[in-house]
Amino acid sequence: MRICRFDDNRLGVVRDGRVHDVTAALDALPPCRYPLPAFDPLVANLDKVRARIEALLPSAPSKGVDEVVFLSPVASPGKLVAAPVNYLKHLAEARADAGVHHDNQILEIQRIGLFLKATSSLVGPGAGVAVRHHDRRNDHEIELAVIIGEAGVGIRKEDAWKHVAGYSIGLDMTVRGPEERSLRKSVDSYSVLGPWMVTADEMGDPTALDFCLKVNGQVRQQANTRDLVLGIPELIEFASAFYTLHPGDVLYTGTPEGVGPVVPGDQILAEFQGIGQMSVAVRPAQAA
Ligand code: MN
Repeated sequence: MRICRFDDNRLGVVRDGRVHDVTAALDALPPCRYPLPAFDPLVANLDKVRARIEALLPSAPSKGVDEVVFLSPVASPGKLVAAPVNYLKHLAEARADAGVHHDNQILEIQRIGLFLKATSSLVGPGAGVAVRHHDRRNDHEIELAVIIGEAGVGIRKEDAWKHVAGYSIGLDMTVRGPEERSLRKSVDSYSVLGPWMVTADEMGDPTALDFCLKVNGQVRQQANTRDLVLGIPELIEFASAFYTLHPGDVLYTGTPEGVGPVVPGDQILAEFQGIGQMSVAVRPAQAA
């Protein structure tokens, strides 16, 4: 199933190029009271919600995918985990290009580990990316995003797949510079997720997906998930050796070679086999 959030916090299912409005399925969620949970309630209750969706779908009103504004398919993740330099050709370009490494030592992912992006940086494709620090490079990074479904800590890679709820396209937008990754990659709107979540059962095997990113129609990044250094099970094992993964946590799995700058006015088109495509506009951030 392809589950999306759209327009004014509507819940949708994407089928045959149309978004079917199944917002009433959210009634299956248990009521939330303060303190709010550390997980995303929709993803944590996906089975219940899906049962309601199936009942609603035959009579659900629909709109074309081009007629809606897509929000992040996960509204309230507890954390955004991200993998640096997880494709060898990107490791090579990062080490070769001073505009990328800024005198930071670029270590292999097995040594440098993972980092976190602020959840406040998360947007859907419809919101676009608002560029800050115009005097610096602001780069696109297309990544397969894995959405955790079942909580776990100390997960062995052999058991990792059953912790996955689904997949989306991720953009790990980045201000280049000398600071820690978590600062430079946590600017408001610098974590794009969308256009929908493809549930794990519908995706099947995500370990050999073609994907590409274009800016203003020109191909910048083109790769396949088979070239991940640490695959999805290894990343889940690595992350959960340090912290509990909760339903709705998002794992940005790393970007391949071809990273490059965008500026306000640019249009990013990100496309993933098995998921679809999303268009993301780049604009200037509002002055504070
Ligand atoms: Mn990245």
